[in-house]
Amino acid sequence: MKKLLRRNKKAADDKNSQTREEANLPVLHITDALLAETGNLLASFAEKKRSEGVVYWFGLELEEISVVTSLIVPDADTSWGCILTSPEANAEVLSLIVGTPLVLLGQVHSHPGNKVRHSDIDNRQTFASFEGAISVVIPYFGKKGINLRRCGIHRHIGGGFKVISHKQLEKHIVVIPGKADLRRNSEPITELENTEEK
Ligand SMILES: [Zn+2]
Repeated sequence: MKKLLRRNKKAADDKNSQTREEANLPVLHITDALLAETGNLLASFAEKKRSEGVVYWFGLELEEISVVTSLIVPDADTSWGCILTSPEANAEVLSLIVGTPLVLLGQVHSHPGNKVRHSDIDNRQTFASFEGAISVVIPYFGKKGINLRRCGIHRHIGGGFKVISHKQLEKHIVVIPGKADLRRNSEPITELENTEEK
């Protein structure tokens, strides 16, 4: 939790002196596999009834980039079809990452239709609200998968969430390969067994 607080403190310090330039914010990297799984998790909220969902993105923050490693779904109350996360539910999430190098990088939530801008409530209640936090809104409850160009990308810059245009997308989120199998036939497994690690 300290690591998270460090981020918030840093954001407050920055606000007092100089807000971090948009260009200096780390570019968030996420694998295609984790992005697809984020979509599956959001869609799972809407399986039994039409409900929005939420997934927190945790990962490593380096100098110029951050990398999502972990998807955490809080125990959100979805009985009204929208997401309410209690301080207790969020504390439970944070307790999972205590003692790890993980920090909260952002969050993703779903909307019922094709509107993907933050609502006023989103602007006020998004858990990941610190300088540089990314908030992605996915249309159609995530049931159509995630195409970032069809999503609302928001970044907390200078004290509030700013909508990131699709032109600027790559300065904020980059999708990287999570798993690739480039074998052209299915033989090499035997060879690998005989190969010692470097
Ligand atoms: Zn929303």
